[in-house]
Amino acid sequence: MKFQHLGTAAAERIPGIFCKCDLCKYARKVGGKEIRTQSQALVDDAVLLDFPGDTYFHFIKEDFDLPSITQLFITHWHSDHFYGEDLAYRMDSYADDNPTHMDVYGSETVKGFYERAFFLEEHYDYSKLTYHALHPGDAVTVTAGNGKEYTVHAFEARHGHHFGDCLFYGLTDGRSSLLYAHDTAYFYDSTWKDMEEAGLKYDYVSLDCTHGLTAMNSDVHMNFADNLRVRDRMVGKGLADSDTIFVSNHFSHHGDASYEQMQAAAVKEGFISSYDGMVTEI
Ligand SMILES: [Zn+2]
Ligand SMILES: [Zn+2]
Ligand SMILES: [Zn+2]
Repeated sequence: MKFQHLGTAAAERIPGIFCKCDLCKYARKVGGKEIRTQSQALVDDAVLLDFPGDTYFHFIKEDFDLPSITQLFITHWHSDHFYGEDLAYRMDSYADDNPTHMDVYGSETVKGFYERAFFLEEHYDYSKLTYHALHPGDAVTVTAGNGKEYTVHAFEARHGHHFGDCLFYGLTDGRSSLLYAHDTAYFYDSTWKDMEEAGLKYDYVSLDCTHGLTAMNSDVHMNFADNLRVRDRMVGKGLADSDTIFVSNHFSHHGDASYEQMQAAAVKEGFISSYDGMVTEI
């Protein structure tokens, strides 16, 4: 399985739009891996995880076949994960000569934002895409445009005051499995239980690291210390082992870490820090 991080930042990106902090100034000066766009990922060039406002930029920069993507999984409705207005341009009147049908999966709340995008266009052409509502604990098996089957498990994310409608995903093609845990704080006990019941052992785990190397503790996102706690508990429960690739991802400029600093800290603990465009064969 090929896995690619198209973008690796939290909402405001790095450098942050409108921000003048030292890390953002440094990122603008250095460029390269210090530049992080909104989080999005791609499995086997066929299954897309999240649809942020930066999707169009990712499409141009990485040159993946976005018009042919038929399976899209949304974690939640924050604009760095779901920008419905651009998804509405999949309608016939905007996209020509594209016979493919896209299935979009996400929570009931995301469905409201999805329908709002069509309302804003004053146009309700759902002939080229269908929304499927998922709930924590659900699993769905899909066939992607590459002909491969994937089973995707939805788990409840711990993301502030929202309950039951922020999801993260475990995905398997029957040979390799990955966990894409964004955006979430350290998982609820009920989520750990759902993960055990799903029965997957993960080869690749991407964890929310919005708070980076700070000591910040929140019920919205994780810092690197939380990532280590998740890793230890996953290994303890047999959800991962010493061969599992653990990746910290979804960074904020408030995380007190450049890419170089984050990667140095990550390597010491057997982790990897993501960067935009990073590809791993799992
Ligand atoms: Zn986010
Ligand atoms: Zn900044
Ligand atoms: Zn969020």
